[in-house]
Amino acid sequence: MKIKTIDVFQVTLPYAGGVYRLSGGREYSEFDATIVRITTACGIEGWGESTPFGSTYIAAHAKGVRAGIEEIAPSLLGKDPRHLDRINEVMDNSLVGHNHAKTPIDVACWDIFGKSVGMPVCDLLGGSTGDPLALISSIYAGEPEEMRGRVVLHRKAGYRGHSIKITDDPQLNANRIEACLAGRKKGEYFIVDANGGLTVETALRLINTLPKGLDFVLEAPCATWREHISLRRRTSIPIIWDELALSEEDIIQIVSEDGAEGIGLKVSKNGGLTKCRRQRDICIAAGYSMSVQDTTGSDIAFAAIVHLAQTLPKKYLRCVLDCRDMVDIKTADGNFDIANGFVLAPKTPGLGVQPRLDILGTPLMSYN
Ligand SMILES: [Mg+2]
Repeated sequence: MKIKTIDVFQVTLPYAGGVYRLSGGREYSEFDATIVRITTACGIEGWGESTPFGSTYIAAHAKGVRAGIEEIAPSLLGKDPRHLDRINEVMDNSLVGHNHAKTPIDVACWDIFGKSVGMPVCDLLGGSTGDPLALISSIYAGEPEEMRGRVVLHRKAGYRGHSIKITDDPQLNANRIEACLAGRKKGEYFIVDANGGLTVETALRLINTLPKGLDFVLEAPCATWREHISLRRRTSIPIIWDELALSEEDIIQIVSEDGAEGIGLKVSKNGGLTKCRRQRDICIAAGYSMSVQDTTGSDIAFAAIVHLAQTLPKKYLRCVLDCRDMVDIKTADGNFDIANGFVLAPKTPGLGVQPRLDILGTPLMSYN
């Protein structure tokens, strides 16, 4: 089997909630999605998506996805898409880094692999646990009571996990956390996510301000490795890494420094399903918890999240992000229905998505 054509589509995805606010004054009102179709010489199509969270979240941006693919694509033509480790070697030998550019190609190759053998991607990644996957909300930073209202709305929709975004003010952050955790229900899981916006000083002041006994994990408190490690030594609150955990090498280093209790495993941030599979296994060996997500994205990105998460033993998996919630446009159909806040991977071959070609339009770039 050989890769014959690589087509690159672009779709602008408006943020469904108006304006999304993160620490550091970062705001997002739409996202720029790159969707890739790989076609084999025998006519099998595979699909993948990469949608960065703007240009200020990690070192990734939407135009970089497409420029990266331009670097990589010619060397992939004629290669066997089912040989995923070899495909990733070819990509890594064509372009250093740039996980976000490699992800849609990697995911499209998994989709082809699954279709070629009549198996869902989760089974190729190790097999479905069969456990329904709990969804996590994404509560952008706002006023405490208004944030609490959004948690309540998601709780009513069945969400068991809540990712509470905070900024840099210790007292305001403490009020946000107390408001969002008020009325928590049994089995709920709360991430307080600073997206790197705290210093060790503001993080410790926040922690010292909070009443005892609040059950949450603190994600990406600070922007640098030194700060994360320093804070980790001085608090009993579990620390989750996200923006600084991008690769197998990062995770090995975090483990060696005893720097975390878990990570946010995001398909495009962490380099696609092949690399996420390895990172998943390292995290399991380390006893880390994982929330399987993506930076953002539409239906095709969500399909990759679900297939990956479906392979994580329950003990290590916290929640999955339904990135479709964050955007106003549907790019594909598939059996990814939510039932009372849970989703299961479909058993159809590949990713199980049928892209909406009328939404995707004509390819921006084609390689053949
Ligand atoms: Mg995060």
